[in-house]
Amino acid sequence: MISSEKDIAGLRVTVMGLGLHGGGAATARFFASRGAKVVVTDLRNRDVLENSLTSLLDFNIEYILGEHRDEDFINADMVLKNPAVPPTSKYLKLCRNIETDISVFLRLNKRPILAVTGSKGKSTTTSAVFHALQSVYRDPRLGGNITISPLSFFEKKSVKEWNASNDPVVLELSSWQLADLAELKDPDGRSILRPEISVITNILKDHQDRYGGMESYILDKTNIYKNQSKEQYTICNFDQETGRRFARETAGKVLFFSASPLPEGVEGAWLKEKTGFLRFNGKNLKILPETLSLPGPHNRMNLLVAAAMLSIFGEDENQTAKALSGFTGIAHRLELVREKDGIRYFNDSAATIPDAVEAALASFTAPIFLITGGTDKDLDFTPLKGSFDKTAGVFLLDGTAREKFEKTMALEGMNPRGVYGSLKEAFDDAVKSALDEARKGKSPVVLLSPGCASFGMFLNEFDRGNQFRELVKAL
Ligand code: ADP
Repeated sequence: MISSEKDIAGLRVTVMGLGLHGGGAATARFFASRGAKVVVTDLRNRDVLENSLTSLLDFNIEYILGEHRDEDFINADMVLKNPAVPPTSKYLKLCRNIETDISVFLRLNKRPILAVTGSKGKSTTTSAVFHALQSVYRDPRLGGNITISPLSFFEKKSVKEWNASNDPVVLELSSWQLADLAELKDPDGRSILRPEISVITNILKDHQDRYGGMESYILDKTNIYKNQSKEQYTICNFDQETGRRFARETAGKVLFFSASPLPEGVEGAWLKEKTGFLRFNGKNLKILPETLSLPGPHNRMNLLVAAAMLSIFGEDENQTAKALSGFTGIAHRLELVREKDGIRYFNDSAATIPDAVEAALASFTAPIFLITGGTDKDLDFTPLKGSFDKTAGVFLLDGTAREKFEKTMALEGMNPRGVYGSLKEAFDDAVKSALDEARKGKSPVVLLSPGCASFGMFLNEFDRGNQFRELVKAL
């Protein structure tokens, strides 16, 4: 167990899963730069991992790629598990001590943590909070599942220097990351995750290919508040049964959020018409203005949650409202890539579940030419029922979700175009159709919102979004 930077020199550390999102690389850099003896092992080969490997060139690290070897787990003082490694991996049984980049960060960090999980809206909410914090603090940080390892915070600072500041850290945590933290304790026997404010944005069906059922997925999420004290806050979704359950279970102070006004006496945030309000500590505050830069009703909810977190943390509500109304969103989430010839192009590649496509389709009144489909994660497509009538054309990418799309659309008497074996083919057809519409004087939208995982055709969802962006830019 490490509780200070001094514990690291000489440790034998195995980073399990280098990955492509920078987490494994930041972990390896952190330990190698503090004098640990680092082995990086990943089942993928050198070609796939090239970008991550390049970022480690300056360090003395041993690589075992394309395979795992028992000895790298048996001999390691500490194994740093990538969240994508399933808990059933046989190699984990060989380890004495399993940590993650987040757990190591939490062991060393003393700054206040604002933590967000949920099925959807995590990255948007955390980024919005971070955006607003930047106008107030010198050194606020954003990290976690949002492809920024919190161990990268120590790249230019020692742990001591880091802890000299009290500026907040916003952490996005996935259910896998939360599962990995569940059993980890500090030297006093307390859990290492104790955020000042925690939020579960919503629970929607996701990752059912890895989880046996919804309950185990939900249980992993509850780790975000499980060890909060009664001085800390848990923000719960009033509009979902699961949110009310979390409110009953947490030891933290409960605040709710809702798409419509909360009953008298219930503390929390809500929307009335399009404006956000907060009832908190005997006060009624206006925390979110009607006019926002971000499109979509789902994003208004995300910003409402962000505004609630900021106000509860003590930020001035007027300054918060101003900052959030100017927040323009993040890449791959209804990202406006370009407007050309009367057509707007949106990259929503982070929409990896059907509910997210529904949310995207609800964000526009213009005719939508939707590029969708991919790998099915054993999800329920009923949320999409009734959504396709908003589309002017659906261009279906090849993948295991094909049949589910076709069936759901057939319920509305519609058929997708395709299937397409590549994004480019689907894109070219979508643009042709959108141009016809634009010539009629309409202002159509070409939207990539797949509702599926990206396995097979793409490296990951970001690669998928980047390819879309390149196609749009090349027009
Ligand atoms: P996460 O980080 O939880 O995956 P993001 O903020 O990155 O969530 O959004 C991913 C996608 O999910 C977006 O592209 C959007 O389509 C959809 N989405 C975002 N927020 C919500 C929400 N509150 N409810 C439903 N869908 C949402």
